Amino acid sequence: MTHTLYWFRNDLRLEDNPALTRALTQASQVTTVFVHPDDAPTAWGFERVGPHRKTWLRCSLDALQNDLARMGVQLLEVRGNPARVLPELMRKVNADQLGFESLAAPEEQQAETALRQTGVPVVSTWQTTLIHPEQLPFSVRALPGSFTPFRQALEKHRIEPSQPIKYPRHAQKPEPGLFMAPPALPLDQHKKDNAPQPETTQQAITLHDHTPTAGERGAQAHLQAWFAGTQAHEYKRTRNALDGWSSSTKFSVWLATGALSARAAAHALHVFEQREGRSESSGWILFELLWRDYFHFLHACHGRRLYAPSGLKGRAQPTHDPEAFERWRMGRTGHALIDAGMNELRHTGYLSNRMRQIVASYCIHDLGCDWRAGAAWFEHCLIDYDVCSNTGNWLYIAGLGTDPRGGRRFNPDKQADEYDRDGRYRQRWSAV
Ligand SMILES: Cc1cc2nc3c(=O)[nH]c(=O)nc-3n(C[C@H](O)[C@H](O)[C@H](O)COP(=O)(O)OP(=O)(O)OC[C@H]3O[C@@H](n4cnc5c(N)ncnc54)[C@H](O)[C@@H]3O)c2cc1C
Repeated sequence: MTHTLYWFRNDLRLEDNPALTRALTQASQVTTVFVHPDDAPTAWGFERVGPHRKTWLRCSLDALQNDLARMGVQLLEVRGNPARVLPELMRKVNADQLGFESLAAPEEQQAETALRQTGVPVVSTWQTTLIHPEQLPFSVRALPGSFTPFRQALEKHRIEPSQPIKYPRHAQKPEPGLFMAPPALPLDQHKKDNAPQPETTQQAITLHDHTPTAGERGAQAHLQAWFAGTQAHEYKRTRNALDGWSSSTKFSVWLATGALSARAAAHALHVFEQREGRSESSGWILFELLWRDYFHFLHACHGRRLYAPSGLKGRAQPTHDPEAFERWRMGRTGHALIDAGMNELRHTGYLSNRMRQIVASYCIHDLGCDWRAGAAWFEHCLIDYDVCSNTGNWLYIAGLGTDPRGGRRFNPDKQADEYDRDGRYRQRWSAV
């Protein structure tokens, strides 16, 4: 009889979760847990996780807990270093195996290595990308140095995402002992009583005048709603808008916590294209999801090297101006578009892709700040924070990553003319 402790990481869902499915189908008993990291400030003087991300994560965990509770399963929450708290928890619940998804970023990898070194039996599964590394026509270590050859290689070899897998239905009505709630634990378990309730916290996240619903059900409802009309055929034209709930897919909001899998998003797109036909615009959504894959594989390929001050380029230490950085962070640079973007980010935890590019470029190229400081502020703020996409994009704009043109510098005046001609965006976010 095996008892698996299943560690939820960035995969807060039941559907299309091969690592969880493996635990459910192979173990005779499964206990689930989420590990909150210790609150540690960044080197730049602010918390790693800001209020909007905390709220969104809380809502997402509450939603997962509700889904698990329907099966009589409790989600435990503990805080601390996974290599310490998980083996301790395994002993307490008498689990003999630890299952989880494998993640590519250095801290996440380090946690896995440290866990293995404790000697606990570990089963890890790669499931975060659209394309599985084994499907790639090259080894991850030989990843092309920029996105276009990566995408072209996938096209040439006709590599497509596999189907999302269904949640094992038999586990929904567990036989006694199959999938049991563990006993209450005296560990430094998160106090649910003090946690805000979903009804309250859901209201706290408002993006582009919309209140997204956290968790897998929220993600599925969003997928359905987004593909119900034909806006996917307008996506290529609208995706650069600075505002608007429907101008881009907003999938990132659920992809980041794993409430939505990349494969489920691609599958919904496929179903839409079967119904409404394929267009260059709808195809562009897949193209963008592949950017996400690319940055995850980039981490699998280069690991810690990406976090050197000079990224992959081995140049001198980037400059940094702490005062200018503070003005940027607080939306007080004096440039109306930049300040509007930074205000929106601080007040909502979200920013359109175009605004992310503009403010990141300004931070690095106009203010002479270290890209790592800007990336850390995004990490603090963004409810869709994804370590691989965030780092990959900041390096790209800084010219220290995988941009074949050696970095991107955006002229904010021109961008304002093009994307905020009537000044509405600047006005909306000027005085908050
Ligand atoms: C400086 C900077 C930092 C960023 N940080 C993050 C981050 O922390 N988390 C994050 O998910 N995205 C990040 N992005 C990428 C992109 O801005 C967001 O994925 C996108 O704005 C999310 O909105 P959407 O879901 O409506 O995107 P859509 O335009 O609808 O795209 C669909 C999906 O494709 C993927 N995608 C699109 N563009 C990119 C891209 N450039 N890189 C990687 N994946 C992409 C996302 O998963 C997105 O949900 C960053 C971009 C920049 C320039």
